[in-house]
Amino acid sequence: MNSHVNPGRVILVGAGPGAADLLTIRAARALALADVVVHDGLVGGDVMALVPAGIRLVSVAKRRDRHTMQQDAIGDLLVAEARAGNVVVRLKGGDPFIFGRGGEEVSACVAGGVPVEVIPGISSALGGAAAAFMPLTHRDHASIVSFVAGECRGLANQDWTGLAGKGRTLVIYMGVTGADRIAEKLIADGLSPDTPIAILERATQPDMRVLRSVLADLGGAVLRELVKSPALIIVGDVATLGADALTSITKAVPCPVS
Ligand code: SAH
Repeated sequence: MNSHVNPGRVILVGAGPGAADLLTIRAARALALADVVVHDGLVGGDVMALVPAGIRLVSVAKRRDRHTMQQDAIGDLLVAEARAGNVVVRLKGGDPFIFGRGGEEVSACVAGGVPVEVIPGISSALGGAAAAFMPLTHRDHASIVSFVAGECRGLANQDWTGLAGKGRTLVIYMGVTGADRIAEKLIADGLSPDTPIAILERATQPDMRVLRSVLADLGGAVLRELVKSPALIIVGDVATLGADALTSITKAVPCPVS
């Protein structure tokens, strides 16, 4: 082998929704190979504990108001580290390609001439659904499932028409802050205020909470129960499922259904 070949490369790794044993074996192997791990705020302590001692850690936790600028800086950092000969693991919460800006990081690596690989992770919707015993599709309830980003910025411009309703499940990422506006938007699109909703907070973590209510009460439930990010909002009939299986395992907090 040519000893002058630069071994540097970037591996985008999905860290899953929180529980460390939800990482893939491939992800764990990548961590063992890393010279440097670049991680964001969603990656919790359990997963970080799998990073071998002595590996350099770089946190790139984003501030909401400086998202765009920081994303460019992250791309530059990944490329610079790989060009310096390092195996760079870019550890991202959930799956890198579900609201993870993984596509932009792949593009930065390609533009920088650096080899890049992507290792999928369990997205929080899938991990959360399993932990809450809430199937996202079900022969009796839903045969279509959609993932949307509920960030306040740009919410009004998003067209969610037809994504929620009978036979459909809508999973909203990043929706806690704008919960009120999300409910208004869906009701304005024609969804019944009585449509079941669930909130999966800190899914797969030991202190996970599952809250259930109806769409008209979404904002109220977030306020009343002091729901904090990270949390997912599930809209549709499947949101009523799982409570019986869950009660023996974790505390479900039912919201009043008016
Ligand atoms: N790539 C990630 C999503 C990043 S966007 C994934 O595939 O899951 C960040 C949003 O993901 C959060 O605002 C929240 O809506 C959701 N999220 C991430 N981890 C979560 C968790 N453990 N429980 C509930 N929601 C989570």
